[in-house]
Amino acid sequence: MLKGRSNYLCLARYGQLHDGAQMALSADGGGFDAQTWSKLEEWRETTETGDRTDAPLDDRQWASVSVSARECPGASRCSVGDECFAEKAKARAMEADIVVTNLHVYGLNVVLRERHGIDITVPEHDVLVVDEAHKLAPTLQQVAGLELTEARVAGLARALGSILTDVPGGLERSASSLGLALDELAGQRLTTLPDALLSEIDGADQSVGEAADLLKALPTLKDHAQTERLRVANLAASLRDDLQAIRRTIVDDVCWVEPGVQQARLRRVPLDIGPLLATQCYARHSVIMTSATLSIGGRFGVFADTVGLTPRSASDPSGAGPERSSPTHRPTRPSDSTDGATDVRSPSTTEPDAGDTDAGESGGERLDTGQSDASQSLRCRRRRRSDIGAHRGRAEPL
Ligand code: SF4
Repeated sequence: MLKGRSNYLCLARYGQLHDGAQMALSADGGGFDAQTWSKLEEWRETTETGDRTDAPLDDRQWASVSVSARECPGASRCSVGDECFAEKAKARAMEADIVVTNLHVYGLNVVLRERHGIDITVPEHDVLVVDEAHKLAPTLQQVAGLELTEARVAGLARALGSILTDVPGGLERSASSLGLALDELAGQRLTTLPDALLSEIDGADQSVGEAADLLKALPTLKDHAQTERLRVANLAASLRDDLQAIRRTIVDDVCWVEPGVQQARLRRVPLDIGPLLATQCYARHSVIMTSATLSIGGRFGVFADTVGLTPRSASDPSGAGPERSSPTHRPTRPSDSTDGATDVRSPSTTEPDAGDTDAGESGGERLDTGQSDASQSLRCRRRRRSDIGAHRGRAEPL
């Protein structure tokens, strides 16, 4: 079982809080009292996995002792990288024949593999089985998309407080005026970003850039403090990347401002994740998708469309061919295709027994997208230990 990085205790943050005691705790807003801290210390001594499932903390407290993938500087640059619970979980997964994870972790792997060309959040694998496959497209859109809130910018200002004694006020001001601009647009779909919003985004970008420069100018710190500095620098870098990506011309994305109870959030997600799945999943390994709700009226066309399994060729641009009702689709790998487009054919004409089991024993529906040789077992290929070392620090961690 492999979870996302934020599900494991980050020993570097825990150590930073431990060293800095209550000052650092209150700076991060973790809401610890002495009793909770004592329970946390006791749990830290006994936990073998660092998994948050049995941690004696609420969500807010847990956020103070965990990191997301985009914050973690990587084991090779971490003061306690050798002991890291998340790294150990990943190493165990590398040795396993079958790895169970959730769609967010897998979706992140798909997005990062497109960027870096290697599997990052899950081990290299031969077969992918997607349960609850009707959630695949929306989850991948969410992972591949961008989100901007006032809290995200303000959160960076708070994080800086754990490193700098004098945090520049520009960041807080930018967060607050960005929040007001988003509130004005709450509930609207945006086909272009209004000038007022663009101006706030640019202002936030500038403030985040100044904060990043301050962090860079600091001398090297010691142990956990240096890891914390790298974590905050990563936060700043990813926020800057997103601010710049969000302001680009909207072409293939859909962008809107979601009203919220406390604050509005700007979301920008790709409309079509089919090409991403085609290149990073279907072209690389067999994929079996299963769910009780894949078909509508006995036809798989709508679902196939959303996950990029519709034929896209000059002879059938609509994807309305008879094979759309087939429960089993088999895309041609890009290298097999003359035009590089995903070609979906029903295996019933080429491979009569190729996993044509649309209704499983449980009554669920199944969509096979690759070589579904009955003799092929469901397992992940093992990765050598040396690969794990080489993997560290090369790109964004899980
Ligand atoms: S490698 Fe990342 S998650 Fe692990 S302890 Fe270090 S900073 Fe935390």
